[in-house]
Amino acid sequence: MNKGTLLYSGKAKSVYATDAADQLWIEFRDDTSAFNGQKLEKLARKGEVNNRFNSQIMTWLAEAGIRTHFIRQISPIDALVHKLTMIPVECVVRNCAAGSLVKRLGLEEGLELNPPVFELFLKNDALGDPMINEDHAIRFGWASEDQLHTMKAQSLRVNEILKGRFAAAGMILVDFKLEFGLYQGELLLGDEFSPDGCRVWDAQTRKKLDKDRFRQGLGDVVESYVEIAQRLGITL
Ligand code: ADP
Ligand code: UDP
Repeated sequence: MNKGTLLYSGKAKSVYATDAADQLWIEFRDDTSAFNGQKLEKLARKGEVNNRFNSQIMTWLAEAGIRTHFIRQISPIDALVHKLTMIPVECVVRNCAAGSLVKRLGLEEGLELNPPVFELFLKNDALGDPMINEDHAIRFGWASEDQLHTMKAQSLRVNEILKGRFAAAGMILVDFKLEFGLYQGELLLGDEFSPDGCRVWDAQTRKKLDKDRFRQGLGDVVESYVEIAQRLGITL
């Protein structure tokens, strides 16, 4: 498979065409951003760690019956995926209160949410990814009722599949964000699952191991991503 022209350069990944019209080459870069791109840094090895992490998680999800865009890892920092028509709605699942939920509703960080809370955000950097509801998504044509139903069901299923793996490794999967898209009329899980897009705490100490280390300037960001991977048994 050959890397074609650059189609899109996002905040953390670059997307290239390939020889196949329906496949994309995704490069995981070291660029790390927070606060809608206001805080930016290059963190050595992050691209490689996230690519490997994502490859393993996507493989586990596929084995558990989730339909994903992932085809295979091509190199330490590159992956081959099915080209999706992305649905511009981010799906967030929360097992504990943290981040924007804490700010929005004044909850105590760490409050357990069982059953989990499911939220939708519009993927729109210019608007700061505002929270939306199903009615907005349907009314303004971002997703159909059917698609939203499937996205919610798949997101909660992903949570069920992964939560236990993190728990068995002494960690709490606090929350995560997923993106979906359409491939030949079918809804597939797209984008990535990595410590850039989820919150993970040590179960005993509640130490933050995810991108909050970058957001909050706690240091050892990539080292913590590596620790999550190693504890999950992901070989880097
Ligand atoms: P952002 O666009 O938020 O800055 P990234 O830097 O991660 O994010 O860029 C990757 C982009 O590729 C995202 O916009 C994501 O929606 C999109 N994407 C992910 N998977 C696919 C896919 N399989 N097909 C098409 N686009 C995808
Ligand atoms: N998230 C993400 N990309 C976004 C927004 C959120 O990956 O554009 C992830 C984030 O890392 C966390 C979860 O989604 O794991 C919930 O994020 P939250 O709404 O709390 O927003 P934040 O305060 O992290 O911006």
